[in-house]
Amino acid sequence: MPELPDLAIVADAFHAALAGRSVTAARAPAPLAVRGTPAELEALVGQSLTSIKRRGKLLLFDFGRDRVVVNPMLTGRFQLTAPGAPLPSRTAVILAFGPRPGRPRGAARWTRKAAWMPADDAAVEVRYRDPTQMGKVYLMPAGIERVVPGLTDEEIGPDADDPTLTLEAWRTRIKRHPGELKNLLKNQSFIAGVGNAYSDEILHAAGLLPFRKRSTLAPEEVDALYAATGATLSRAIEVLRERVPPTFEKQARDWLAVHGKGGQPCPRCGTRISEVKPGGFVTSFCRSCQH
Ligand SMILES: [Zn+2]
Repeated sequence: MPELPDLAIVADAFHAALAGRSVTAARAPAPLAVRGTPAELEALVGQSLTSIKRRGKLLLFDFGRDRVVVNPMLTGRFQLTAPGAPLPSRTAVILAFGPRPGRPRGAARWTRKAAWMPADDAAVEVRYRDPTQMGKVYLMPAGIERVVPGLTDEEIGPDADDPTLTLEAWRTRIKRHPGELKNLLKNQSFIAGVGNAYSDEILHAAGLLPFRKRSTLAPEEVDALYAATGATLSRAIEVLRERVPPTFEKQARDWLAVHGKGGQPCPRCGTRISEVKPGGFVTSFCRSCQH
């Protein structure tokens, strides 16, 4: 599942590559993935893309007038490509863009001079594909009220890397959640953007066990969890900037410390990493150096 670091890379890259371009065609080969009407999709043609942002585990395309919100769920992936490149299987939505005058405002510094960046005078396509068809593309025309599940104020808290999420705010927010730490980190109403993989990484970095209850944490452990969250996510973004482009569909996870590494030695203490699968989702941790 794409999490905050994965989608931060896609949002930065796609904003740098696409903002300032106008939509020349909008198609939905798998219309069941789309929440909205064919007319609303067609109405995107001619609109200029203002920005692409990430919020939690969702991607927001802002066209100035209309918006498009994508929730890739477990298996949704994005492709940035020249028009005419072979269409991958299970492509749900295609947005084609024309040329633009130049690099947009707000383009992330790390994308400058990137080899994968399409030329400003070239056409380019974004394709969203989803093998399990669980993800959704929400069309949000101006003036139409359409609820995006997961994006309401009750459902989504501050992004895990939001600068306004200070240690003080963290200490306050975490009091409302007495339960298991892994569930806490994955709870989007506590902090947004962390899922199954990075929750394991954060807990390993903090030296805390995933099934430990928050109510048992000492104050310094609450603070350690905050520090580990920020450090783990910012390091992941650094690594993925090198590892993900030009194939934005890729989800580079092999470099992680514990998640999905069951049976391998813990990089911190050498103990074999434990792995359990409650509900079918892998949880990996070290019994020796996480407490
Ligand atoms: Zn260990």
